[in-house]
Amino acid sequence: MGRAGKAAGRAAPAGAAAVSRQVRAVVPVLLLLVAACWALSSFVDVSLQDRPGVRLKLPAHLGGWAGHELRFCHEASCKKEHRLEDLTGDPTKCPACGGGLHAMTVEEYEQLPKDTEFIKAIYQSGAGESVYVSIVLTGRDRESIHRPERCLTGQGHTILSRDVREFPMQGRDPLKAMVFLNERKIETAQGAYGYLSYYAYWFVGQGRETPDHYMRMLWLAWDRVVHSVAHRWAYISVSGRRDKDSGEYLHQLGDFLPLLHDAIVLRPGDAAPGAAAQSAATRNPVSAPQ
Ligand SMILES: [Zn+2]
Repeated sequence: MGRAGKAAGRAAPAGAAAVSRQVRAVVPVLLLLVAACWALSSFVDVSLQDRPGVRLKLPAHLGGWAGHELRFCHEASCKKEHRLEDLTGDPTKCPACGGGLHAMTVEEYEQLPKDTEFIKAIYQSGAGESVYVSIVLTGRDRESIHRPERCLTGQGHTILSRDVREFPMQGRDPLKAMVFLNERKIETAQGAYGYLSYYAYWFVGQGRETPDHYMRMLWLAWDRVVHSVAHRWAYISVSGRRDKDSGEYLHQLGDFLPLLHDAIVLRPGDAAPGAAAQSAATRNPVSAPQ
């Protein structure tokens, strides 16, 4: 290493220490601000706004993708996944075991407040690719959306990387989505292998979108304190498989996400279906008045 390299090497720790001091100075202020927001939000009279920022309906077609809404059996011995259109009999009964069918898996059902609304579908392209889409819409408990990391690791995924990616949209700013690259160990009779997947998500409030869980929580607190309202937030996720060391999944997302966004995110002035007009099937069937 030359003289300049050594000098740069010595300078770096001093610079890092200065940045570290600045960060340490800002953290208490930020913490106080957040604490003040939450304290205030507990005392002000907040009105709950039922108008969501998305349509809780997934179209049958998105460009070249064909969608199939899903239902999940909650019987522990069955847990089969069905396409809604294949349920020719009673769409609330599992044709395999007679158990109840729901719009969410039993694990999701157990974690979410009972008035959370949920819709899930699989989309398939002519080239044989598949992506899963889900929309979670908060109920009266506006803080019912968990950190996505918690759900994924609970399902056995290891998160290898996380990045906010921008996807170009026509006529508006790019859509920013958080993209996780995951691996899940699958045990088979032939041995274990790693199932590689991606998981992209973003949140939609009333005229607001963010890929950041904490920014969503900050806006929730801000709207409560400054505007005295608590909006419903939607958590939209898209996931699929990926090949090792390939960026093809980004092309898949770049094709799919703008189509999905155009179909579900409401623009100012759009006639929104009220909560009561949402499909009854997507509402948790045991929802109880609170
Ligand atoms: Zn079943």
